[in-house]
Amino acid sequence: MIRRVPRPVPRPALVAGLASALAGALGLAAPPSLAAQTTATERAAAREILAEIDALQVRLAPADAARRLVERDAPGRDAVVARTRELWDTEMEALSDWIGRHPEVGWDEHQAVDTLTAVLRDRGWTVEVGVAGLETAFVATWTSPAGADGPLLGLIGEYDALRDADGPFHGDQHNAQTPIAMATAFALAEHMADEGMPGRLRIYGTPAEEVGPPAKVIMHEAGVFDGADLIVRSHGVTATGRAQAGFGSCCLNINEVKYTFLGTPSHQMSSWFGRNALEAAVHFYTLVDGLRSTLRPEASIQGVIPEGGEAPNVVPQRAVVDYYIRYPDPVYLEHVNAMMDAAARGAAMATGTTVEIDRYGEYRDGISLGTLQELSFAYATALGAGAVNPEPGRPSGWEETGVVTEDIPGIGVSVFSSRAANHTRGMLDDTFGEVGHTGFRIAAETMASILYDFATRPELREAVQDEHSVLAGLLGAYHDALRAAYADEIGAGGR
Ligand SMILES: [Zn+2]
Repeated sequence: MIRRVPRPVPRPALVAGLASALAGALGLAAPPSLAAQTTATERAAAREILAEIDALQVRLAPADAARRLVERDAPGRDAVVARTRELWDTEMEALSDWIGRHPEVGWDEHQAVDTLTAVLRDRGWTVEVGVAGLETAFVATWTSPAGADGPLLGLIGEYDALRDADGPFHGDQHNAQTPIAMATAFALAEHMADEGMPGRLRIYGTPAEEVGPPAKVIMHEAGVFDGADLIVRSHGVTATGRAQAGFGSCCLNINEVKYTFLGTPSHQMSSWFGRNALEAAVHFYTLVDGLRSTLRPEASIQGVIPEGGEAPNVVPQRAVVDYYIRYPDPVYLEHVNAMMDAAARGAAMATGTTVEIDRYGEYRDGISLGTLQELSFAYATALGAGAVNPEPGRPSGWEETGVVTEDIPGIGVSVFSSRAANHTRGMLDDTFGEVGHTGFRIAAETMASILYDFATRPELREAVQDEHSVLAGLLGAYHDALRAAYADEIGAGGR
């Protein structure tokens, strides 16, 4: 392997960028995290728990700690960052573009997995494809020649494209995620080998981020992420930012539910012998619209009817309605879901059909750590990330299902990489251009810095573990408080 002299990180720029980024951003001066919750009910129910989270942030002072880490003299880190940049520029940017030009939708990402795992095997990583029973999921592991007896540092790589009527396209920039992770991990592996640092690096290839059931939940239940001390991930965004500490999700709590109506087929000329599943589905779809006025306005309910019969002259025997049901908190979400299930049964009863209800995916509030959010933001800003949002956003777990974040601390790095909104053709265009390429490189450099610090700074490891264990312990109490707050409205105990 050709090893070039690392280009040093321009330190004055690093510090100057940091100073402006951190101005006024210190958690102590910010309003309490009550602003983090979406609804008044959440804010009221969670007041005491949020006060505990605020006290934890004051104790850990993550913005101060981040500033100290970023500003310190750390030649090892700077060399890893420089090597990450070089790997991105010379190899991984082209790999990102290649995947971007060969889009494959969730569960069908075979070319991407073959291409990415070939690169990993070439570098001596141990690769297992098809983990957790998912054909396009993989785990790649590198073990330091100094031994495995050190931290296990994980990186998430996604690669599925979006679906629309014009075919698959990488309008959410998942094409870049695994190349970013590789630039980071390869640079770190070289450094660990050179320095005789024990430990392991692991890249988790996680399919189908855009399609249920949630792959990361299946992989977690299969134990794929067990043992990881920290997991990092990046995702294309329209602004460089960080989330507040606490509980939340990028995309609200979601239930993915499929309602399958089953009737009896019959010819059009003797339709009275049949029971019409499509009519049941249409009734149900309309009933759901009728429910909206009785639900809290933050509910977001959208569905499609992917199956509605075979031919106009046959009474439809089978029809399917597929809904994503979203709400800011998981407790009221269960109430919305229960109302919809009742509507589905009512539609079936009214049409002489039956309905099967299959909840095939759940996405929940994740745990967002101030220690890592502030560190990521400080590094990204110092490294020159664009479109910086100085205000911390609502708490958000580091992966979209939230489930893995309850057990394993991590950070989703958010570096500006597109002027167009997520899930658009404009974001696809930016993935091949300067905005995307620069953002992806800075995301890789940021991840390399975080992992380097986590591996080499015991005080960071302790702060992250401390914060994660306190927040994980408060999550159940937060949900109990929500159940109590909603009791009159949705029934005691909350459905
Ligand atoms: Zn995405």
